[in-house]
Amino acid sequence: MTQPRPVYLIAPTLAGRKLAQALQALLPEAVLWERPLGALESVWREAGQLVFVLAVGAVVRLIAPLLADKRTDPGVVAIDEAGRFAVSLSGGHVGGADALAERIAALLSATAVLTGAGGRHGLPPVDLLGKAYGWRAGEACDWNRVAALAAAGEPVQVVQECGLDLWRAALPENHPFVDAAAAGRLWISHRLPEVGTLPTVRWHPRVIWLGVGCERGIAADFLEQSIRQALAGAGLAFEAVAGIASLDIKADEAGLLAVAERHGWPVRFFDAAALARCPVPNPSQAVADCVGTASVAEAAALLAGEALQLVAPKRVFKAAGAGACTVAAAVALQEFNPAPGRLLLIGSGPGALDQVTPAARAALGAAQVVIGYQLYIDLIRPLLAPTQIVETSPITQEVARAERAIALAKRGLAVAVISSGDAGIYGMAGLVFERLARGGWNGQAPAVDVLPGITALQAAAARVGAPLMHDFCAISLSDLLTPWQTICTRLEAAARADFVVALYNPRSASRTQQIAQAREILLAHRDPATPVALVRCAYRPDEQVSLHTLADLPLESVDMLTTVLIGNRATFRRGDRLITPRGYPHP
Ligand code: SAH
Repeated sequence: MTQPRPVYLIAPTLAGRKLAQALQALLPEAVLWERPLGALESVWREAGQLVFVLAVGAVVRLIAPLLADKRTDPGVVAIDEAGRFAVSLSGGHVGGADALAERIAALLSATAVLTGAGGRHGLPPVDLLGKAYGWRAGEACDWNRVAALAAAGEPVQVVQECGLDLWRAALPENHPFVDAAAAGRLWISHRLPEVGTLPTVRWHPRVIWLGVGCERGIAADFLEQSIRQALAGAGLAFEAVAGIASLDIKADEAGLLAVAERHGWPVRFFDAAALARCPVPNPSQAVADCVGTASVAEAAALLAGEALQLVAPKRVFKAAGAGACTVAAAVALQEFNPAPGRLLLIGSGPGALDQVTPAARAALGAAQVVIGYQLYIDLIRPLLAPTQIVETSPITQEVARAERAIALAKRGLAVAVISSGDAGIYGMAGLVFERLARGGWNGQAPAVDVLPGITALQAAAARVGAPLMHDFCAISLSDLLTPWQTICTRLEAAARADFVVALYNPRSASRTQQIAQAREILLAHRDPATPVALVRCAYRPDEQVSLHTLADLPLESVDMLTTVLIGNRATFRRGDRLITPRGYPHP
């Protein structure tokens, strides 16, 4: 797998350096540039992105002599020393500067300045479209022409024959992509379009599995040339190759391994018995006599692609001195995506955007797909880029939501799963891990990151002072997933042990008795005058806070948007504040 290319943080001034250091702590993949500016030329070609903390004019002067081609230049972002703006200066799309500027803006609470057309219309840039899915861009395409058409709002025909089509669901209104013939064409297929003059860009989902049989010592170049010929002959795109497969005795065939390495193709080997079991259109007795299966190329292609039919039946290629090989191809149902896939389990806090941690913002920015309950997604909508794919689902669909996220992550995508508050406190984090574990997860792929958020009890506590200052516990009164008896036992224990108690999910339209019983249990061990806070929709526009005592708690005003905080024996009220003493002596 190719290594991610480095991101350099370049800050020649003292003030800029401080910001760069702060940013480096937030952007783990970034490296602080310690060398003279003159040495930038030497890293220009291998850098992923360059981030300057420097005036735009100065950056322009520095990079002008280095700019070569927007398809190969690194992305360049310029940030002002005060950290107010992150400007995507060049390499916005393929160089990744637009995405990085947005991420940096989220981390620094700055404004991202994007001036490219794709950014302006919220359209997926055509030259980046398939990158997230591991698709390969076609060679010699009319990228500029088709991008210009789309940016101008001119219709662009989409022909998609394979690969994930999530991107179409995420398109903004009034997007230019249509099914009918138009002045330009976006071609997404394993096949090649007929040759013509219509401006076309091609993305090739990697669905083609090559099956190869060859003589010992086959020359890599000859094998590659044969593969290219076999594909072209069948009208298939070389870029759509997912990987290559053969008989296991070829596991050390240098030419085969070299071609795979050259193109980043995974190699799969099958033993003769497995290949022999696979029905093929063109079996050969001679091959069976020799290696124990009547087909290598066709059977290997079908097995690797888990396909029923070939798109290219076997063809034999021979060249004096270079050896002989057989090539066949089959198409898999799903594209191969070499990206490892990631799940980002994000706690988005109680509601207000300024209560979302910078790390959670950055993770949101890195997600290609964002999954969550509609209300929570609405609360963080301004943090999402229009090109991100957002999937919302109703509140009771947690298992389906977790499964969907896992399925997409397994296809190589970075998938954010949003919980309100903290993801690990009555949120989605545990469920996602449970489903992963049940699915035989090895703990590594897909990778999982949990991004903590401010949970309801913290938000509620902050609104009323310092009620949680001593030992406290959270108890959910929802008996949908927990037996009511268990909840009562815990309430009883918490009441006895004098914990400050935060009640989550305290009362819904159908669960009205639980809060009343909880109060009874607490009253058995606590003074009726114990202060209680009801905090509803903390940090949301419709926030309501009210203070009561255990005895006079207005149960009917409690709902599912409320957190109930119940003081311990020492908690007291001053004005509209609740304070639980920590135990400090007061001389
Ligand atoms: N993961 C969330 C909790 C989800 S359970 C967190 O860590 O906060 C849902 C319950 O959390 C609600 O019934 C309510 O009791 C509480 N809650 C969530 N957001 C809240 C808010 N903004 N204000 C008050 N209570 C909230």
